[in-house]
Amino acid sequence: MIWADREAKRLKERNLPLEWADDMKTPSGRIHVGSLRGVIVHDLIYKALKDISVNAKFSYVFNDMDPMDGMPSYLDANKWGEYMGMPLYKIPSPEPGFKSFADYFASEFIEVFNSINCHPQIIWSSELHRAGKMNEVIKLILDKADIVRNIYKKVVKKERSLNWFPYNPICEKCGKISTTNVHKWDGKYVYYRCEPKMVEWAEGCDYEGKVEPINENGKLVWKLDWPAHWKVIGVTIESSGKDHMSSGGSYDMGIHFCKEVLGTVAPDALGGYEWFTIGGKKMSSSKGIGSSAKEVSQILPPDLLRFLLVRTPIKTHLDFDPIGDTIPNLFDDYDRCLNAYFLKIENNLPKDKAGEVTEDYARIIELSEVNPLPKARLYIPRFRTIVNLLKAKNNNLLSFFETQKSSFAKASKDKEEKLSTEEKTILEERIKYAKIYLEKYSQEKTELIKTEKFIASDLQKEFSLQSIKRLKCLNSKDNKEQIQQAIFESIKSSGIKPKEAFEVIYQTLIGKSFGPKIGELVLNIGFDKSLELLRSGSSNQLPITKNNFTYPDFTDKKIFSIDEAVAQKYPSINIGIAVIKNINIKKTNSDLINEINKFVSEQSHLSNEVISSYPEVLTYRKLYKEMGIDWHSRRPSPEALLRRISQKKDLYQINTCVDAYNLIVMKNRVSVGAFDYDKFNFPTLMRFPKDGEEILLLGDKEPLKFKPTEIAYFDQNGGYNIDFNYRDAQRTCVTEQTKNILLNIDGIYDIDRKKVEKSLQESIDIILKYCGGTVEFAGVVPATQK
Ligand SMILES: [Zn+2]
Repeated sequence: MIWADREAKRLKERNLPLEWADDMKTPSGRIHVGSLRGVIVHDLIYKALKDISVNAKFSYVFNDMDPMDGMPSYLDANKWGEYMGMPLYKIPSPEPGFKSFADYFASEFIEVFNSINCHPQIIWSSELHRAGKMNEVIKLILDKADIVRNIYKKVVKKERSLNWFPYNPICEKCGKISTTNVHKWDGKYVYYRCEPKMVEWAEGCDYEGKVEPINENGKLVWKLDWPAHWKVIGVTIESSGKDHMSSGGSYDMGIHFCKEVLGTVAPDALGGYEWFTIGGKKMSSSKGIGSSAKEVSQILPPDLLRFLLVRTPIKTHLDFDPIGDTIPNLFDDYDRCLNAYFLKIENNLPKDKAGEVTEDYARIIELSEVNPLPKARLYIPRFRTIVNLLKAKNNNLLSFFETQKSSFAKASKDKEEKLSTEEKTILEERIKYAKIYLEKYSQEKTELIKTEKFIASDLQKEFSLQSIKRLKCLNSKDNKEQIQQAIFESIKSSGIKPKEAFEVIYQTLIGKSFGPKIGELVLNIGFDKSLELLRSGSSNQLPITKNNFTYPDFTDKKIFSIDEAVAQKYPSINIGIAVIKNINIKKTNSDLINEINKFVSEQSHLSNEVISSYPEVLTYRKLYKEMGIDWHSRRPSPEALLRRISQKKDLYQINTCVDAYNLIVMKNRVSVGAFDYDKFNFPTLMRFPKDGEEILLLGDKEPLKFKPTEIAYFDQNGGYNIDFNYRDAQRTCVTEQTKNILLNIDGIYDIDRKKVEKSLQESIDIILKYCGGTVEFAGVVPATQK
């Protein structure tokens, strides 16, 4: 069962005559895509409630009486500066055709959420005020100002003086609302002064006056404005992002205000929801990728955008980085769920455990509906295929897919050999978005953007030159600490901000704005090569690097390689590899246990549904399916570890090496294996098993016969790990006696080289932290050398 249905079931039990879900936003500029998360969360709970016959409503409030408190970068500050501090609904619209500034930006956002099938009742806060609907609650709060002050004192330890009142009138002289300070309330009037220096971004006019706190004359401060709206509208469900959900935050305060001032109960917040970001925070307009709701809605068809939001459980951070394979993968995921939906309407859902998952997928499609869902199975052209055909300049996509359709028709019960109108519409839509994708977000395009974009500032150049000088003076070229030290000294002596210093280093060395520890990085790239790159960076002639990877390709076949047959069948494989020597493994370490416990304590949201939504978990399951292994009976290690946490079972304690890298496995959900280097008969390789080969797994009494289709690691004596890190062999396992280890990190499909390198880096770091030792080499073996 997916989260919305589960929450709806829980809410149904409180038996309210009406459940009213509500969300809010201040339209102070172009609305960020992250705000769509709130809209979807409430839309889903609303629809899930209706589905189980609960009387429900859904509204969206625009807080258009809030002041303009920041200058959007796309507006001319000279022209718009005079409106700072004024309520948004009184500021003119940047474009003709809208009632106000608030109306303009809210309308853009409404258009986006309407397009993904969210149709809440729109409520303008200014209209509630104008109609006098807020009057009573404002008076109630002013009358009980002493209780309000006490709540501030009790909950957030903030002392409010006796002449503080939680209300801002609109200044009768200058029209600002953010500069007025009420110092008296006599039961009919509030007495205020328009303070010249109350806020930094707007200047008050020094006017003193009195006004009745009714209608459009002003509004409550935010922390009281929110619960006042709940009461006036009758809201019973309102979730919000985690910034409002912390202890002492707006919601927490709201609970007190409801109970102790308004005599109401705060709405159910569903525990709050996690963020929706685009490419982390690093990427916004700077890389040519916008992040307003409107811009993001233009790169995906509405049903796909909705699907992206619907399938992510409420407590899971959703980060959408449109660069590279993300969009084709999203389409594949959509198609997979759509197939589940077809199975459901055909009454063909599997009966076993897998059936539950399939049913959840089908439900996700039902809740992702934008246009009416098909009534029967359709032939759906694969997005990735369209992309590839367009890349190959194939101009006759229609006839290509007509052929595909005809073989689809032969294989299924579909009698129609030609594409139906519905299928053609889908094809055309996918072609449209494939063109946008190729134009803006495919790997080839974005590589170009990256290398073109970064230009070092003068100070960054100066810092690079100083770093080069210091590095050249080092007496050893392979001492990480010394390298690190030289960089820090250069930061100090050049007076640059550390953030800018790191930016120029990472940009020049790996073409990214962040990366691993500098010492480590320089050694991985090579000391001399790093100097050369820094030198070209300091003169702004950035080398066009062939790739942006931190670790080199590892090519020593005497140590490890991937067999040709495996590489051909699974060209997306990337194996991270490292040898760490002279380590010291102990039974346990209390700092490590604390670190693990901390991670576990942060996983209270973990459920099978959450685990099944992780792309890495889906990736390994996909591989298992390819290999003919049932992932219900053999769980890849990240999934197995996370399931133990979700089922409240203790994690196994093995030793300080295994426990340490298992923490990284759980954090990144990427498989890592460590093996006793001295037990190997080199070379090792990844290959398909030969007939009759067996492996004695750790903890087993009898050896297990390999299937010929499963991928495994072998040395010259036999297998040492099965199914891409499902389990290890006894003979090479890491114990407290182990001195030297070989690390393998398993990447395929969505777990691309970037992710493999991240896990490689973090596994090395944590092993060095808890077991010591030195890294002899580290690199990546891709199935296909570029
Ligand atoms: Zn004023």
